[in-house]
Amino acid sequence: MNPLLHDAAVRASRYLETLNTRPVAPGAAAIAALRGFEEPLPATPSDPMDTLRLLDELGSPATTAMAGPRFFGFVIGGTLPVTLAANWLASAWDQNTGLYRPTPGTAHLEQVALGWLLDVLRLPAGCAGAYVTGATVANLTALAAARHAVLERAGWNVEAKGLFGAPPITVVVGAEAHPSVTKSLGILGLGRSRVIAVPVDAQGRLRPEALPPISGPTIVCAQAGNVNTGAIDPIREICRRAAGAWVHVDGAFGLWAAAAPSRAALTSGWENADSWATDAHKWLNVPYDCGLAFVRDAHALKAAMAITAEYLPTDAPQRNPGDFTPELSRRARGVEVWAALRSLGRAGLAEMIERNCAQARRFAERLAAAGFEILNEVVLNQVLVSFGDADRTKRVIEAVQADGTCWAGITVWQGRTAMRLSISCWATTDADIDRSAAAIVRCAQAAA
Ligand SMILES: *Cc1c(COP(=O)(O)O)cnc(C)c1O
Repeated sequence: MNPLLHDAAVRASRYLETLNTRPVAPGAAAIAALRGFEEPLPATPSDPMDTLRLLDELGSPATTAMAGPRFFGFVIGGTLPVTLAANWLASAWDQNTGLYRPTPGTAHLEQVALGWLLDVLRLPAGCAGAYVTGATVANLTALAAARHAVLERAGWNVEAKGLFGAPPITVVVGAEAHPSVTKSLGILGLGRSRVIAVPVDAQGRLRPEALPPISGPTIVCAQAGNVNTGAIDPIREICRRAAGAWVHVDGAFGLWAAAAPSRAALTSGWENADSWATDAHKWLNVPYDCGLAFVRDAHALKAAMAITAEYLPTDAPQRNPGDFTPELSRRARGVEVWAALRSLGRAGLAEMIERNCAQARRFAERLAAAGFEILNEVVLNQVLVSFGDADRTKRVIEAVQADGTCWAGITVWQGRTAMRLSISCWATTDADIDRSAAAIVRCAQAAA
């Protein structure tokens, strides 16, 4: 076996084995040791084994254990072992999956996985899909399709003519829209602040009765999974009231709730929307970077994204992935999605999502029982905890990060500073929740 690749596999396995016993955040010594990377650019080649050794010796200790079971910052999940293994093999293949003809294997696998995704996420079977880097670019991609469609209906070809002189588009967002939606609107020339922001309820859900009357080209941005509360907008009702508009759903992590039978009441009706964005690198637990855009009207997505050039073979027997994504050259990130779905199966995916939701409740119950205030309705995998005033809550969060048993971040929810816990890792056990809750209670009592 190639000794370099063997060494990488051994080092990676060893790294993963340490995740359960090491502090989640890297220590000060490990961060200080990063100075070891600051050598002059070598003038001559050296043994690749030595480069890998340095990477592991200095790099591995300076990582946060995001792949481990007790990282609860952001909503990002870990990496299912089968997806890491598939990532290694697909990286060895080195397939530039923009076009079908030169890369039939990976383009085909991605197409199969897209069909499975539409099924498990309960989206319309005919949707077009795009593998992109994350939900930010998925929002951008889907909203580009929306921009095309609403202007096409108004007799305007936005790809050809741009927005100068175009009929105006009304853009409606919930007041709690994720900043990546705002950013995407800015990139698309629709304006970061040129939006109608609709008021939300106490959980951050867009209030459908507050939607403006719809007329002319209109895009409505709804959300499945508020980054703080986990709340899912009433999308069925939004689609009903916004008839005539293009409804886009940012479901970066919340879309995965569709895979959990117990959350069906929250997710039904979102198949009535026009486009959806999600992340596989969040709740599906595949490696970065892997986001997904789905668009009901395949023509609109292709019109916004297709690329033509004489040297690109477009006469493919199957679709060219690059006609649906902002990127042309890209890695075959759908291979890991395929591997996750194939090895989990419908039941395994449901179990993972259900378990994380139940663990969020368990976490909230443990912390409430210790006398701390839970600020949100725990409907999904998010828990917001207050430890008193902003100062004290901040001190508790710092103490928890320094303690190293687990990692949680800070947020401000409706004016109140809170600890934010996101449970979205395949490896998290109930014992991890209990151990982490105990550590948080210990830190909170010490910070009194
Ligand atoms: C994480 C998240 C995003 C951004 O996703 P990236 O993968 O970081 O680009 C967008 N919207 C919501 C609701 C999110 O939770």
